Amino acid sequence: MIEFDQACDQILVHTRCLGSEDRLIEAAIGCVLAEDITSPMDVSPFRNSAMDGFAVRSEWLLDCSESQPLTMSIGSTTFAGDRTVTQPAMSTVAKVMTGAMVPTECDAVVPFEDTDYDDHQVTFCRSIAAGSNVRQAGEDIKLGQKLYSEGTAMGALDIGVLATIGKRTVSTYRRPSILILGTGDELLNPGDELVQGKIYDSNTFTIHALVSPFCERIDRVCGVRDREKELARALDSSHDIIVTTGGVSAGERDLVVDMAEAIGWKRVFHKVAIKPGKPVYFATRDSQLLFGLPGNPLSTAVTCSVFLILALRKMIGFEDYRLRLKPARLAPEAIWKSGRKLIWPGFIREEAGQMVATFSPKRSSAALTALMGTDGLVFQSATDENSEEVRVEIILWDHILRI
Ligand code: AMP
Ligand code: MG
Repeated sequence: MIEFDQACDQILVHTRCLGSEDRLIEAAIGCVLAEDITSPMDVSPFRNSAMDGFAVRSEWLLDCSESQPLTMSIGSTTFAGDRTVTQPAMSTVAKVMTGAMVPTECDAVVPFEDTDYDDHQVTFCRSIAAGSNVRQAGEDIKLGQKLYSEGTAMGALDIGVLATIGKRTVSTYRRPSILILGTGDELLNPGDELVQGKIYDSNTFTIHALVSPFCERIDRVCGVRDREKELARALDSSHDIIVTTGGVSAGERDLVVDMAEAIGWKRVFHKVAIKPGKPVYFATRDSQLLFGLPGNPLSTAVTCSVFLILALRKMIGFEDYRLRLKPARLAPEAIWKSGRKLIWPGFIREEAGQMVATFSPKRSSAALTALMGTDGLVFQSATDENSEEVRVEIILWDHILRI
């Protein structure tokens, strides 16, 4: 049996970042950039109007007021998308629409609603500051500006930024294919009729839900029977990652480890000193990874969150792939002595600038409902002394599951 930190290190040693590929920008959500992104252009690319109105030189309107209005002829009209802008003739103004180029000699745009105008002429009744309602070239993004560094995950808010600088594809790290195998003769698919002695498979759904932000393709099989041949066949797939649940403990039909090793998987570790999840198994075959997660539903969820997601974060190219735990104080009423490191779902609040954690009151590794409504995972080192103040570490679900 190894310690939690050793298990994490071992997983990282055996996990390689997958190669890169070009993706359409709209398909890059949830992917990590394999390139720095520098803008090849100014955004906006040219000086343009922020309003529908009249382009003027601000100095023309310097002395303008209600009592001293200025009337000028309208000399030209420019629309958004016009490829040239007509300079207004002497003592005329140019009508410009939002997004249209502003004549070079003009430095402000007076919105239509601040003027009186007809088809031929316009009357101004107040002055305007230079630069008003004119968007400069490069005002939002400058040519050569670095927007993203390699290793940054692309989210919904980034895709438009890529589009605005004209990128159609980006280089991203490949995301893995994953096969989730729920092992156990007792398993039924939700929706099937419940029969005596059987239970519904929740684990493969839990895993699917937890890993989906990180994966390209997920295949899920419920109810791989606890039989040597069937297990060996299922474990022999070519996915980047295979995850099993159940069948890694001491039961007479816990055959996952033996069958995996019979078909060429090499054990990295089996059993980690944590609660829940002690029987967790990890093996490799060339660049493939196998996670044998324990069958108890809370054990599955916890080991998936701290081990499988750790590997996924490295595999998909995260610069900062380790899960960053933060120090916290355990609420006195939550003290729970354990000879093994606890990694239990819990509630986390801030109190006088300090993070305070409590464990979910459900204390069975079979109780999936221990997860419900919790804020994150609470890590407590093995304790036996009767300490009043227990230091723990926490991580929010948001930080575990966020891409
Ligand atoms: P095992 O490690 O195979 O002995 O399983 C431990 C416990 O977890 C048993 O009570 C199993 O019935 C239960 N279990 C195993 N697989 C699943 C699953 N996919 N969904 C829900 N419970 C499961
Ligand atoms: Mg089983």
